[in-house]
Amino acid sequence: MLRLEGLTKRYKTGDRALTDVSFTVPAGQVVGLIGPSGAGKSTLIRCVNRLVEPSAGKVFLGEKELTGAGRSELRRLRRRIGMIFQEYALVERLTVMENVLSGRLGYVPFWRSFLRRYPQADVDKAFALLDRVGLTDHVDKRADALSGGQRQRVGIARALEQDPELLLVDEPTASLDPKTSRQIMRLITEICRERGLPAIINIHDVLLAKMFVDRIVGLRAGEIVFDGPPETLDDEALTRIYGSEDWNAMQKEHADAAEDAAAVAAYQARERAKAGAA
Ligand code: ADP
Repeated sequence: MLRLEGLTKRYKTGDRALTDVSFTVPAGQVVGLIGPSGAGKSTLIRCVNRLVEPSAGKVFLGEKELTGAGRSELRRLRRRIGMIFQEYALVERLTVMENVLSGRLGYVPFWRSFLRRYPQADVDKAFALLDRVGLTDHVDKRADALSGGQRQRVGIARALEQDPELLLVDEPTASLDPKTSRQIMRLITEICRERGLPAIINIHDVLLAKMFVDRIVGLRAGEIVFDGPPETLDDEALTRIYGSEDWNAMQKEHADAAEDAAAVAAYQARERAKAGAA
């Protein structure tokens, strides 16, 4: 369980990025964090793992308070948080297996990781995770030989290799096509439910969020302006989060994308029919 209490961040520049943000994410719940650019989504995620120091407020992971933890305790606590990134952050020249095992780096003595000698139990776990994310046939491939979707699957397995108690996910599908995006969102949300993992996913695609997450938290100018199940996120709520101009523009973008996809599919079907007739 993750609990935020009155989280507030004011940057030195005077920008007030978060104001009194409080919510609790119970085990197994996936929260989609949405809001316009500059709303404070990245700041919120960074305050949770304390890459950014909150100006006020508290963050609890289970019973442990992350805010206020000293340096060595923070290092220990961070191991309990799995991160998944937009650009995957894989080591390109290492294999899929080695990338997943690097998720254990915080646990394995330095000399072992340097020699890339991991305990058998870690290797077994990595195999099981790679099986779960559908990469059994790619274990020995180099990361740079994979597609975007496969790379994100490695990113997911790596985050899970450290047995996290919380997942923080930053725009996991921003570099993926629509179909792969849905597959990745489905995989992340299924795994969280299976493992009872709480998760916060920073996601700009509202429709994708609505399709997969359990709960949506909408930020605007650093404050929560919506918190509820996806089916209650109606046009009124979306206007509150994005403002009417931006929300209408986003809707149009989605409509265009759907139209484009339908046009491409129709064109391909016609070409196939022509090729079949010839
Ligand atoms: P989002 O992820 O929703 O786009 P951010 O958390 O990046 O929003 O930003 C929230 C606000 O904080 C913005 O006004 C932004 O300009 C400001 N901000 C973000 N990072 C910094 C920083 N390192 N220094 C100063 N201001 C920042």
